[in-house]
Amino acid sequence: MPTKAYAATSKTAPVGPFTIERREPRANDVEIAIQYCGVCHSDLHQVRDEWGNAMYPMVPGHEIVGKVTRVGAGVKRFKVGDRVAVGCLVDSCRECSACKAGLEQYCEKGMIGTYNSYEADGKTVTYGGSSEKIVAREEFVLSVSDKLDPARTAPLLCAGITTYSPLRHANVGKGQRVGVVGLGGLGHMGVKFARAFGAEVTVFTTSAKKRADAIALGAHEVTISTDADAMSKQAGRFDFILDTVSAPHDYDVLVNALKRDGRMTLVGAPPTPAQITGFGLILQRRSIGGSLIGGLPETQEMLDFCAKHEIVSDVEVIPIQEINRAYERMLKGDVKYRFVIDLASLR
Ligand code: NAP
Ligand code: ZN
Ligand code: ZN
Repeated sequence: MPTKAYAATSKTAPVGPFTIERREPRANDVEIAIQYCGVCHSDLHQVRDEWGNAMYPMVPGHEIVGKVTRVGAGVKRFKVGDRVAVGCLVDSCRECSACKAGLEQYCEKGMIGTYNSYEADGKTVTYGGSSEKIVAREEFVLSVSDKLDPARTAPLLCAGITTYSPLRHANVGKGQRVGVVGLGGLGHMGVKFARAFGAEVTVFTTSAKKRADAIALGAHEVTISTDADAMSKQAGRFDFILDTVSAPHDYDVLVNALKRDGRMTLVGAPPTPAQITGFGLILQRRSIGGSLIGGLPETQEMLDFCAKHEIVSDVEVIPIQEINRAYERMLKGDVKYRFVIDLASLR
């Protein structure tokens, strides 16, 4: 099926109109008319080939919300008209221990990304949410409550689950002091979840002008991460720190803010290697780890949690024709706090 989309054709070309082919729904497939798609910093890293794995033409977008328009004969959980979502992955081997544990993002054979990935056949390239529709296997489609605003729900599919999952994995809750580093798309969701889980939340930001927003989003305090005096006052205070920063920055100063046995989890993925001084970890038995999005069961759990607790993203809705300007604004940290494309602008 010829499908209208926006694609990058090289790492220096702007994203622009492009026609892709979507498959006819197979027995286990759901066809979705995309209503909204969030703009993640990972889209920008990938369309500009900053991670070195780009395949062009590339149709970015993995924060997808829409309505079911057709289902294959074998589909059980969805019917035409349902509100649904697709996140960062559209398939995996479905057999390995990670997939069996509902951790499809860590599939031992490699998860199949919503775009810039090969399908299970090893040759068909996947195309993401900057398009009018998508066809995906039922197991990789999520249910979205009609109570949630669809535009403000789209970013939950990446920014939401990427922050929810590590906070849950670390059992963040009441009585714990948690830091969220970088107040962008991921960071602002991290603040909302850490607060909803009952933690004392501090935002570490480079942007003094975001202070009032950080508090309004749920933070108890704000520290400017480039202010050496302010950072020295934070030394040894934090149980858990979630680092969402998209560019190279000082990790040691954040590690020093951890308590003994404290842990910092990286979700931000700058393309260059991080420099970390071993002593910061050694002297207080601190650790650093990483976390990749979330599996299907946990993503559904997160969406249901958001419906119950009325948590959605703070968004600026744009027509798809604005996408290149949105990238530039994202690079300058000028986004409150996620751009979301209204796909009606493509039809
Ligand atoms: P974003 O909206 O652009 O936010 C990134 C934030 O990082 C900025 O708002 C800024 O916050 C801070 N920042 C930017 N440049 C900085 C610098 N030079 N030094 C210090 N802080 C800086 O991006 P996003 O969509 O949230 O994505 C963040 C990162 O997470 C990206 O690298 C993305 O690829 C990655 N990611 C990872 C996963 C995963 O599964 N692990 C999933 C999605 C995205 P302040 O203004 O507050 O300082
Ligand atoms: Zn993303
Ligand atoms: Zn697997």
